[in-house]
Amino acid sequence: MENLTIKDQVNKETIKIMDNISGQADKRLQDIKVLMYHRLIDSVEAKSNFHWTTVTQKDFIDHLKVLESFNYTPITFNDLRLHLLQEIELPKKPVIITFDDGYKDFYELGYPVLKEFGMRAVIFALGDRSITENIWDDSKVIPRAPLMNDRELQELHSEGFEIGAHSCTHRKLTELDDEKLHEEIFKSKKNLESVLNSKVYSFCYPYGLENEKVQNAVREARFTFGCTVYNGPLRFGDSLYNIHRVTIKNGMGALSFGLRMLTPFEYVEVSGSKIKRRIIEQH
Ligand SMILES: [Zn+2]
Repeated sequence: MENLTIKDQVNKETIKIMDNISGQADKRLQDIKVLMYHRLIDSVEAKSNFHWTTVTQKDFIDHLKVLESFNYTPITFNDLRLHLLQEIELPKKPVIITFDDGYKDFYELGYPVLKEFGMRAVIFALGDRSITENIWDDSKVIPRAPLMNDRELQELHSEGFEIGAHSCTHRKLTELDDEKLHEEIFKSKKNLESVLNSKVYSFCYPYGLENEKVQNAVREARFTFGCTVYNGPLRFGDSLYNIHRVTIKNGMGALSFGLRMLTPFEYVEVSGSKIKRRIIEQH
């Protein structure tokens, strides 16, 4: 029998998952929405001073109420991985809540609220644990904000929240040479795994920037999932390394959020022709 190369071996689990996906007609998987949040702020702070990615705690609570009233159950990518390996069943209406960058405001304003609702989320944190603020945003005049420390990530992990990797230093991965690309991806996994003392399965491309080479590197590093920032439903038929997400923005109230949850596309913000195109693409 042919000997498996190291690459074959590391990809064995992914291959099994892909086999399970292609062999099944579980429409529920296609319908899972992945919500993308970044920062949270206290509801009394002025909204206008903050970037569009910043959501008030009040709006966030309203979003969770919508999820609760429509019987959605937030799951993690690891839950999905176990389901795809046929080890666990998924709840009837799963949804994945993600927070990019690992801001401390999630720990202060998001975590306690989610706990109260009995819900969990996935946090994409940096692998370079010496970075304590969003220094990569300086050129965009986005205010600096503190990131969660190791202890906070460990606490979230111990409470069933998932910590995924968001590269080491938040560079544009598509612009890096092979060596730097490898380092940003492989090291982010290794560093976070040593902080958590547990495997890390999900990766989120900084700025959503990826291409085939970046996706391949994420797969070779033994991540099972790769998240982009594209709007749209999760599409397992395409690739586990090109997962689409629904962007949640500043000022999005319960109604607007509910529409995003209950309709297949983010039609509220796109023109009629685009709506049509997207719907045709899905079928
Ligand atoms: Zn980011």
